[in-house]
Amino acid sequence: MAQTMITFYPGPSKIYPQVEQYLTEAYQSGILSMNHRSEAFMSMLENVFRQMHLKLGLPDGYEIYFTSSATECWEIIAQSLIKCRSLHLYNGAFGKKWYEYTHRLCSEAQPYEFDLNNLPAPTSLGAVLEGAEVICLTHSETSNATMIPMSFLRELREQTDQIIAVDATSSMGGVEMDWEAADVWYASVQKCFGLPPGLGVMIVSPRAIQRAEELGSRNHYNSLLYIRENFQKHQSPHTPNTLGIYLLGRVMEQVAPIQEVNAVTEARADDWYRFIERSRYSLLVKEEAVRSSTVIAVEGTKEEIKSLKKEALEAGILLGSGYGPWKETTFRIANFPAIESVEIDRLKDFLRKYSKSYKE
Ligand SMILES: *Cc1c(COP(=O)(O)O)cnc(C)c1O
Repeated sequence: MAQTMITFYPGPSKIYPQVEQYLTEAYQSGILSMNHRSEAFMSMLENVFRQMHLKLGLPDGYEIYFTSSATECWEIIAQSLIKCRSLHLYNGAFGKKWYEYTHRLCSEAQPYEFDLNNLPAPTSLGAVLEGAEVICLTHSETSNATMIPMSFLRELREQTDQIIAVDATSSMGGVEMDWEAADVWYASVQKCFGLPPGLGVMIVSPRAIQRAEELGSRNHYNSLLYIRENFQKHQSPHTPNTLGIYLLGRVMEQVAPIQEVNAVTEARADDWYRFIERSRYSLLVKEEAVRSSTVIAVEGTKEEIKSLKKEALEAGILLGSGYGPWKETTFRIANFPAIESVEIDRLKDFLRKYSKSYKE
């Protein structure tokens, strides 16, 4: 891929340009050759945790662990926090995959699918919630560009004392979370953190830690209790992605507090939604309240989407493909913090020009 290519792919996605410098610094600092139980590693990790707590506004008592991916978090939750039964509320491909992974390990995992435009009210879930040890939700469903509002999570929290786990893979780092509304939040860094792939972030509440202790599962190399014991000492259970962790720390030092990042994300999303509504295209998600602020899905005919993506590529712009059932009739635009305003303007210019020239 040429250097000048602009990417709006929703993961892996555009990385912060500063990462080039951080890579050199990582190399020069010597940290990349250090053992993960060394003083140098431990103090680096401690600093990354501190920066994350500060910039993301994490509550006291919430702990951070690093994993290899968001996918790994699906399995960690299944084997460390669920004895038998989880409940999976979802409307798209990632929520469904999470359910399927969990179902292989916990045969009583329950799916609860809802319509793209129709998020059920937490108060209407009553009987569905009963008996679920962990309630699993996808905050930003990257496949179809929906997002669960924080108000939903807060209301859900009032409905149940059970553990609430949230897949925030394509929103953490770009959107302000009400952390106390859930117990487990996880993401991977190749989306809103603007970093190269290969690192997962898991944020865990005291309540979830207590649950893991009650279950006492220690059968896996990545059992939550093992992971926790190591990260509490600022170490890592196995040789970690030291480069990824270092880069995350540098990016966390660089970015504004999440309230500021969130304001930019929302303003840019509003702008995108108004732009698409005024254009010849339509939005996949009709219900405004559940539209994602970090991923935008634009709908069109199969022929038009195909030709548009191709011409965009020729103009040096990589658009996100549609996903799953919407593979051929949508394209996706990442609205992640590392994307610059001039890049957004270039895509808008392209879309304006393209829609004038497109012949049906
Ligand atoms: C990208 C994504 C994942 C998978 O992330 P990996 O790092 O590949 O494990 C899971 N859930 C959602 C919502 C995603 O967007």
